[in-house]
Amino acid sequence: NVRRAIQRAEDGAGRVRGSGELLAVTKSRGIDDITQAIATGCVHFAESYVQEAVEKIQAIEDPSLIWHFIGPIQSNKTQLIARHFDWVHSVDRFKVAERLNRQRSTDKRPLQVCIQVNITGEVSKSGVSAGELTNLLQQMRPLKHLQVRGLMTVPRKSDSIDLQRQCFLQLNALLRQVNQQGARLDSLSMGMSGDYLLAIEQGASMVRLGSAIFGRRK
Ligand SMILES: *Cc1c(COP(=O)(O)O)cnc(C)c1O
Repeated sequence: NVRRAIQRAEDGAGRVRGSGELLAVTKSRGIDDITQAIATGCVHFAESYVQEAVEKIQAIEDPSLIWHFIGPIQSNKTQLIARHFDWVHSVDRFKVAERLNRQRSTDKRPLQVCIQVNITGEVSKSGVSAGELTNLLQQMRPLKHLQVRGLMTVPRKSDSIDLQRQCFLQLNALLRQVNQQGARLDSLSMGMSGDYLLAIEQGASMVRLGSAIFGRRK
């Protein structure tokens, strides 16, 4: 059902089918849930807690899966992230980027990175401000074991549909703006269970869905 809904939203927005990728968010879900999702064709999985994620990645040990880290990053966890993940969506400071770069094994493909942007400006929320983004991108340019692919955001929970749309639109505009300044970003990680169709409408290339797939978290 989720896939059909995404496809309809892609059609509605005049987008290429399949250009909005589904990420199954499996934090707090067990191996059985992940196995079932794999059986329906899920390849991309996202987790927010390093320790919990690494246990599952090692238990499942399926090289065809692509693992995305989407949670807040503590510097003492970067080593595990660099070792076990393919993507990180929540990089928001140079210190973390520099550690991930140093700790990424050279025989792996570069870690694929999205910069988390705090579009709504909430104090409690992680992410760089739109104003700080250019500077962070510039600082990260020499980091050869990271490939910066795009931007990620989480809208305010209480926001109305109009404000959520506004938030996605702003992230999309920001991506185009930094690309005009010479960046080459192709990914927009935005949209969760409550707002993913809006996000697809506004150009999301990855939507991160937990409860829409697996039901409410316990
Ligand atoms: C948990 C989480 C999601 C998924 O949330 P749902 O509302 O269950 O779809 C998406 N993105 C981030 C960053 C999360 O932490």
